[in-house]
Amino acid sequence: MPWKLLRFGVSKKHPEPRMFTYHEKLKTHYDVVIIGGGGHGLASAYYLGKDHGITDVAVLEKGYIGGGNTGRNTTIIRSNYLTPEGVKFYDESVNLWQDLSQDFDLNLFYANRGHFTLAHTDSAMRTMRWRAEVNKHYGVNSEVVDADFVKRHAPMIDLSCSGHAPILGALYHAPGSVARHDTVAWGYGRGADMRGAEIHQQTEVLGIDVQSGKVKGVLTSRGYISTNKVICAVAGYTPRILDMVDIKSPIYIHPLQAMVSEPIKAWLDPILVSGSLHVYISQSSRGELVMGASLDPYEVQSTRSTLDFVEGLSSHLLDMFPFLSNVKVMRQWAGMADMTPDFAPIMGKTPIEGFYLDAGWGTWGFKATPVCGKTMSHTVANDSNHPLITGFTLDRFRNFSLTGEKGAASVGH
Ligand SMILES: Cc1cc2nc3c(=O)[nH]c(=O)nc-3n(C[C@H](O)[C@H](O)[C@H](O)COP(=O)(O)OP(=O)(O)OC[C@H]3O[C@@H](n4cnc5c(N)ncnc54)[C@H](O)[C@@H]3O)c2cc1C
Repeated sequence: MPWKLLRFGVSKKHPEPRMFTYHEKLKTHYDVVIIGGGGHGLASAYYLGKDHGITDVAVLEKGYIGGGNTGRNTTIIRSNYLTPEGVKFYDESVNLWQDLSQDFDLNLFYANRGHFTLAHTDSAMRTMRWRAEVNKHYGVNSEVVDADFVKRHAPMIDLSCSGHAPILGALYHAPGSVARHDTVAWGYGRGADMRGAEIHQQTEVLGIDVQSGKVKGVLTSRGYISTNKVICAVAGYTPRILDMVDIKSPIYIHPLQAMVSEPIKAWLDPILVSGSLHVYISQSSRGELVMGASLDPYEVQSTRSTLDFVEGLSSHLLDMFPFLSNVKVMRQWAGMADMTPDFAPIMGKTPIEGFYLDAGWGTWGFKATPVCGKTMSHTVANDSNHPLITGFTLDRFRNFSLTGEKGAASVGH
């Protein structure tokens, strides 16, 4: 082992710059407490400081930042959704992504690749046309293309899919992109820290103090903090936090798994998704194939991955790309996806004064990280829901006015 590394390892001091400041103690009061140090919580802290000058903020993370779904996702960024609410919201996020590396002074490896949602049936083609029309109406670059167009962009594809699910065409979304997910958490974390927010890792929220319908504080594994404003951004843990404030939501938790291959020579530029085969694939800038499927069909709060998943996903991918049969799978994992019945998020104010919810991000919330930070910080600063999230409020389930996004969000994350 090199001497310098050994000396560093046994030293109590870590002289190299850290991404953010270590705070030994929690303060007794913060203006805003954010539960969850994933991308959404950290982005909310960042924009609270940057856009609204609110810097007396604590982000409480029970593990390490980015260790939840933010560090487990397959990083697809797109805005080709189905509902007007969804298209406008995700389009704003795609716009925000463009300047993030510069804002953070950190390379997020944001790579614009183009995104294909493959159609294997006439009814799937109809949905693609529907989505393309909604997208165009809101100025989002999406179009229906034929199978030859797909082949030109992904020459290694077997258009017949081993003969049993021939590709008829696709929805092509040129802005579709990927980015390096953990740097997103680090960038937002460092930016929030530089503006005065405190990030406390290894700090679990165990209870929320609500008196006469108003937030008064939070109980943590490191003591009590008084505050009047709490943002809950805990993705797969949302039902546990909602139990603490006695709010009922229709969120249910399913595992979502993914895997990566060994790095291989670059051969796949775009991101490909097949709803019928329940698979998607892209190639990272390191050459690894990043692959995933739809949700596991059972409700369970666990991050264990299964052999079943690797077998099912591999067999469908081989239908599309038979030449991959000798490529090794290097890693597999799972995250806990906080699903809603209409596949749209739940955001904004709640019946408890001072308790704000950013949840229901299921399989699609990574791309929304910037716009969530923007809109949640606005909502908290003004105590009024940002106009972009009015279609995502919790009371839509009571009013039967759902934002049906399933056609665009079930497999294509
Ligand atoms: C396999 C997989 C693939 C995906 N692919 C995509 C994709 O391609 N594109 C896309 O847009 N989205 C994708 N997603 C979804 C996306 O990852 C999530 O929606 C998004 O990362 C949610 O971010 P978050 O900050 O809300 O939650 P998280 O990153 O999960 O952060 C929540 C944090 O809260 C912490 N926490 C929980 N309880 C407490 C507590 N009591 N006290 C303190 N801290 C607590 C957790 O430790 C965690 O770090 C995928 C998800 C998975 C699992």
